[in-house]
Amino acid sequence: MKKEMPLTLPQLKTIWGKDWDFFVEKIVPNCLCHTCNEVVTIVDFKTTVNDLNDVILRGKCAVCSDPVNRYTETGENEEYVKRIKKVLKGMKK
Ligand SMILES: [Zn+2]
Repeated sequence: MKKEMPLTLPQLKTIWGKDWDFFVEKIVPNCLCHTCNEVVTIVDFKTTVNDLNDVILRGKCAVCSDPVNRYTETGENEEYVKRIKKVLKGMKK
């Protein structure tokens, strides 16, 4: 079973660090909605991180409100992984 940990907004900001603008400008508005069959903005999303250190967004399509997911491959970036581990460690305290 895949394990996922929920992330708060401050934790998410910590993970993306100086790439936060990239996250807001390039990830959030670039989610595929299967209902609209278009690239849309994800709204009302919650984020989790899985056991591969990939951050996953789950929310709604800004156009039709159907569920939209966005998978980010943060687990492939050493800097992100370092910060994810730090954030997760802090949660266990
Ligand atoms: Zn849609």
